[in-house]
Amino acid sequence: MIFDLHSHTSFSDGALQPSELMARAMERQVTTLAITDHDTVDAYRHLPQDHGGIELVAGIEFSTQWQSTGIHVLGLNIDPGSAAIQAGVRFQTNARMQRARKIAEKLEKRGIENALAGAAELASGSYIGRPHFAQHVINVGKARDMHAAFKNYLGDGKAGDVRQHWAELAQIIEWIRDANGIAVLAHPLKYKLTRTRLKRLLADFIELGGEGMEVVSGQQTPQHTSGMVQVCVELGLLASCGSDFHGPGKRWAELGSFTPLPPRVTPVWERF
Ligand code: AMP
Ligand code: MN
Ligand code: MN
Ligand code: MN
Repeated sequence: MIFDLHSHTSFSDGALQPSELMARAMERQVTTLAITDHDTVDAYRHLPQDHGGIELVAGIEFSTQWQSTGIHVLGLNIDPGSAAIQAGVRFQTNARMQRARKIAEKLEKRGIENALAGAAELASGSYIGRPHFAQHVINVGKARDMHAAFKNYLGDGKAGDVRQHWAELAQIIEWIRDANGIAVLAHPLKYKLTRTRLKRLLADFIELGGEGMEVVSGQQTPQHTSGMVQVCVELGLLASCGSDFHGPGKRWAELGSFTPLPPRVTPVWERF
């Protein structure tokens, strides 16, 4: 059994349509898949009739912040049609649109023309994000690849890094719980927090109703895994795992390609 509980489709910043993603998951022996697009559940309205034997767990990846750190929270096993998720998606989509306008203004000042229209055309559904702006920067010949586009235009501290006030963490967790889902802190190692700060974040997360953390996110070192296992056990959280797959060609984030959860932790799917 391979549970991959973190993946993206073209309805956020993934490269594949839901049917293509599911076919690839099948090929890669994934048995249970969660599609967790950024701040949208549009993919769940465009699923193939035939799931080809893959068990789907409905999910979403919400953007929010804790203190001054931007963080991502997964809602797993949610009801995507629930009023709570619909309200959450509406709020975040609106916040994204406002941010997109600001990013476009800033990029225009840096000589990138037509940024809003260009990014919007690359986006499908309600998500318009920095990867779409990055692709537009590439398309107009101002960057060679994604790496360069983020490094020079959209990454930390660059013109397109517009600080967005997403919905508060408490609100995000409430939406997930109201949709009968489980709130899971995504890729805890990505925030570059010290172990002490990470535990402080998780303590706040738990107090607000958060229940799990990703112990394994894509390919990571055994040291990182044992560190996350330790935090997970110490704080009594449920453990999740996933690739954070965005598209083919990234070995470190390929569907189903990560070490299994060790037996010391309680897998989040025991609660599905
Ligand atoms: P947004 O949701 O608009 O803030 O965009 C964030 C997304 O951009 C992340 O989920 C990643 O998929 C992608 N991303 C962030 N940093 C980079 C980078 N340096 N290179 C490529 N993609 C990135
Ligand atoms: Mn992404
Ligand atoms: Mn993320
Ligand atoms: Mn993700």
